[in-house]
Amino acid sequence: MMSDEPIPLKPRKARAACPICGRPPAPEAKPFCSRRCADVDLGRWLNESYRVPVTEETDEDGEAVPGTERG
Ligand SMILES: [Zn+2]
Repeated sequence: MMSDEPIPLKPRKARAACPICGRPPAPEAKPFCSRRCADVDLGRWLNESYRVPVTEETDEDGEAVPGTERG
């Protein structure tokens, strides 16, 4: 059985622009327009990760540890 799914003829227009400078992204540097912008974003991200306040979330794990198996 072959599923004949109607393929939409509407071309997918990527409206996403380079988050750094707003230029159309390049295929080799998506979603950035160039490697330079990618680097800039990476640098920003790393910088921010240092400054971003880490919220300590206590993960309550209600997992009981099973006793040691005796063989
Ligand atoms: Zn750019």
